[in-house]
Amino acid sequence: MSASDADPGDLGPEPPAPSIVAFDIGEVLIDETRVVAVWAELLGISPFTLAAVLGAAIVQGRDHEVAFHHVAPNFELAELEEEHEQRYGGFQPTDLYPDAGPCLEELRALGFTVVLAGNQPARRSEQLRALGLPYDHLVMSDELGVHKPDQGFFDGVLELAGTADPADVLYVGDRTDNDIGPAAARGLRTCWLRRGPWGQLQELPDGVEPELVLEGLGELPLLLSQWRAGPTNEGGHA
Ligand SMILES: [Mg+2]
Repeated sequence: MSASDADPGDLGPEPPAPSIVAFDIGEVLIDETRVVAVWAELLGISPFTLAAVLGAAIVQGRDHEVAFHHVAPNFELAELEEEHEQRYGGFQPTDLYPDAGPCLEELRALGFTVVLAGNQPARRSEQLRALGLPYDHLVMSDELGVHKPDQGFFDGVLELAGTADPADVLYVGDRTDNDIGPAAARGLRTCWLRRGPWGQLQELPDGVEPELVLEGLGELPLLLSQWRAGPTNEGGHA
């Protein structure tokens, strides 16, 4: 840190930039539009209606099941899950956000360790592998046996990445309740990706300040390499 950056409140030099980048899956790497469209088809309503009601539930801080129950009170979602999975057919190449693959590839080329870890059923691991994304470690919450926002999920990510230092990991997620808040509470660095309905509509919990706030993954490799190079490089991180 240069003298001009010095702040009397500083407690010392900033810790080094993270060397491990862990990614949430839904709305970070995978566009979940088809998930909602298939549910709408099963419930006999338009995707537009389901998406709008889902957005209202998100704003109210309520679970997505509340939205589903609102539009289709006579359906038991649990009984439709297998049918949904069959129609959905798992992750497809067209579900990938276009910036996902290039971002992971660039991060690995820059020497960062890439982890893919989200709240997903175990079968999504194989589907993600089939998409050919570059990564070092991959695990779904069902395989860990613990789901976000439980801190145990982030413990599992640290163990998988082979570090005991949570500050060495940047967690990239779209949700403040499941991703940013709990990851920050566990001591990870965070990147809030403001895309998808949660990323657009949720707010940050009091006192939580992500190191990065982005609208896409395109800039992430450059920002991380600038962060790693140190504060003398302008525009490293927020
Ligand atoms: Mg997500």
